[in-house]
Amino acid sequence: MKYQVLLFYKYVTVKNPQELKEYSLDLCKKYNLTGRVIIAEEGINYTLEGVFEDTEAFVTEFLKDARFSDTHIKRSEGKGVSFPGLSIKVRKEIVGTKFPAEVDPRIKTGNHLKAEELHEWYRTNKDFVVVDMRNSYEYASGHFRGSEDLGMSASRELKEVVDKLEDVKDKTIVTVCTGGIKCEKMSAYLLHKGFKDVHQLDGGIHTYMEKYPAKDFLGTLYTYDERLTMDFGGDREIVGTCLRCKEKTEKYQNCANAECNMLFLICDECMSEEGPGFCSNLCEKSTARVVQRIRV
Ligand SMILES: [Zn+2]
Ligand SMILES: [Zn+2]
Repeated sequence: MKYQVLLFYKYVTVKNPQELKEYSLDLCKKYNLTGRVIIAEEGINYTLEGVFEDTEAFVTEFLKDARFSDTHIKRSEGKGVSFPGLSIKVRKEIVGTKFPAEVDPRIKTGNHLKAEELHEWYRTNKDFVVVDMRNSYEYASGHFRGSEDLGMSASRELKEVVDKLEDVKDKTIVTVCTGGIKCEKMSAYLLHKGFKDVHQLDGGIHTYMEKYPAKDFLGTLYTYDERLTMDFGGDREIVGTCLRCKEKTEKYQNCANAECNMLFLICDECMSEEGPGFCSNLCEKSTARVVQRIRV
């Protein structure tokens, strides 16, 4: 059986998110799809998996809705186990940023830079800065050559770390993220903060890797499903390093501190010697405190 994962989003006004939720639920059930869907008044965000033919039938039917007919659908191979089930939620935002209301990609956002254009920029050594809008742990296993990691663990943290970009405020900026959805708002926020020349990678890293596997984007792409990481073939360079011994690795583990649960990279050897362990000294200490309290 051949499986496929669909990834798509669109910032478009959805007047009745609840109604779309019911419709999506019925449609996903009809085609036996699993995955995660977030619907808001500001737009839609779908990640779904199913048998190849079923996913294609879903796309054909879903895109009949005029609001979504021009949605860019990203496809990748699945194994049928990417998601534990189907979750469809109505939320305030499709990416949780808590930015001021005037930061609205439906009104103003960064210029959509095609993968072909960014590829050309890399080839011609144009003067530009790639800012990775994903979380730090995602950046760890793969990222664009020379790109900046802002050290975030959630999109809403951009407000706190945006000062790190102060010295490149007047430069040509390209924001990147997994599928493009985050950058719609993150690039809009940079414009709101007075950045001059802001572009966002159209279709995200996913689209770039599809077109240019193992080029410019080094390593492997973190995914928000059971696959954890993915690539589109090619002879890729491993850029992830083990948190303990700094050996090259692309394997993720969760921090043993249940309250943290942060993902980090660890090599097979360190894993077999010490188990998953903690993401930081802080996590190790805080758990120790909990244990001590229980002992008392
Ligand atoms: Zn190691
Ligand atoms: Zn931790």
